[in-house]
Amino acid sequence: MRLLLVEDDPMIGSSLRQGLRSEGFAVDWVQDGRSAELAVEANPYALVLLDLGLPEKDGLAVLHHWRQCGLTVPVLILTARDAVPDRVKGLDSGADDYLVKPFDLTELLARIRALLRRQTGRAQDFIENGALRLDPVTHTVDYRGQPVLLSAREFALLRALLETPGAVLSREQLEDRLYGWGEEVESNAVEVHIHHLRRKLSTGIIRTVRGIGYRLGETI
Ligand code: CA
Repeated sequence: MRLLLVEDDPMIGSSLRQGLRSEGFAVDWVQDGRSAELAVEANPYALVLLDLGLPEKDGLAVLHHWRQCGLTVPVLILTARDAVPDRVKGLDSGADDYLVKPFDLTELLARIRALLRRQTGRAQDFIENGALRLDPVTHTVDYRGQPVLLSAREFALLRALLETPGAVLSREQLEDRLYGWGEEVESNAVEVHIHHLRRKLSTGIIRTVRGIGYRLGETI
């Protein structure tokens, strides 16, 4: 699951990135409004965490621009502006949620989960398909009633396939979801994760669609 973090304060930005990465998110971090616009044009983010007081272009103006362009990516505003008119303005500009600094990482994570749930139209946190059950809160996977230990990338890859059952995702699409900028990606990384998932779950769990990519296979 890949997130964009837009935050110009180096201390807050680096600690947030670290906290989110340790939860298994791929995080791209930009520090001004223009870079945020460019990043969102170029990458498929599951969610954007947006500071408002930013150099180059204010966060509200960036958000307004995205919504005018019809971009529906969920946006969670993170800001020290806690006056009621500011919050109302943020939500009216198309933000999906609002968190006032300073905040607790656990609360941020809970709000991120809630937004991602809403985005995928699910009322519960876990994702189930056949005998496969994935819980994004506890980072656990059960298959046929047994817990299966997965690495963070294997978990993220399985999650991407489970969230779009029936869809074929290309290797590039999977790489984009699993890795942030500056992260070293071996050319066969996706294939290696898929190999491990098949070994840990079952060979039929992920189908290769020749020349196109991968989709979720048999989950019973
Ligand atoms: Ca700021």
